[in-house]
Amino acid sequence: MKRFGDRTSTLSWNDSTGHKYGPESTERKTMVSQVDRTVGYLRQRIRESGLEPNLNLIITSDHGMETVIKTDEIHIQKVENFTFTDIQFELLDYGPNGLLVPKEGKLEHVYSVLKNAHPKLHVYKKEEFPKRFHYANNSRITPLLMYSDPGYVQFNKGEHGFDNEAMNMKTIFRAVGPAFKRGLLAEPFESVNVYALLCELLGIAPEPHDGSLEVLRPLLHPAPKPPQISHPHSSSVTESQGREALPSSGVHQGCVAVEADTDAQCDSDKSILCRCCPNFPTCSRKKNSNLVWTRDS
Ligand SMILES: [Zn+2]
Repeated sequence: MKRFGDRTSTLSWNDSTGHKYGPESTERKTMVSQVDRTVGYLRQRIRESGLEPNLNLIITSDHGMETVIKTDEIHIQKVENFTFTDIQFELLDYGPNGLLVPKEGKLEHVYSVLKNAHPKLHVYKKEEFPKRFHYANNSRITPLLMYSDPGYVQFNKGEHGFDNEAMNMKTIFRAVGPAFKRGLLAEPFESVNVYALLCELLGIAPEPHDGSLEVLRPLLHPAPKPPQISHPHSSSVTESQGREALPSSGVHQGCVAVEADTDAQCDSDKSILCRCCPNFPTCSRKKNSNLVWTRDS
């Protein structure tokens, strides 16, 4: 049996065009149309391949895009009493965020001279950085950090990485597939929660993260109850959640069959479960009533 793996694909053309020409440009609008056609082709091929009943498809992006403002620029090197000789390490040329490591004993001084240097520049000590950014609580983030208001950045005609509450930083989220409710218009949510959703769909345990699956749970069909499958010698498979009963073939139409692991303690070698069933085990190997099932072959 061929298994279709779990895939993510990135269409980065829209990002690079937005940086180069700006989000409101004709070039960007043309590129949005091209990405839209590509998504349409993807869905068409999924349909033609008979994968729709088994495949969850998510279309999203990691950020929006803001037009860069070329006036009233922020020049850090011109700030009164600021000098790069007080700085041990700086990262200032990538997007609207700046990272600074002041030399020993210089943190308070650098912080005080930059703090009110420009009305569009926001300077924080690491421990005071707004929690809603989900950003500073990491060992890689420096003791001083700053960000600029939307539009205030040095390079490109379009940029992202600004305040996550800025409307132009919002992105899209569309999902379709057997796990998702149909026709649901969800409340806005933070993208930081998407990781937990992907882990849930793939049946893997998430690493520590800043999101919560509970935020996106309303998008999903109710979680299946634990498997209620009897020993194969009794030749019956029960289902919960109101699904139709398994046909005698053991597989719903359009579903993928899996065979019970013949290494199981059970001596039956041809018990078949329907992979899309809500009571199918979510882990790859699950013990239940002397049975061990594999998710695929
Ligand atoms: Zn980008």
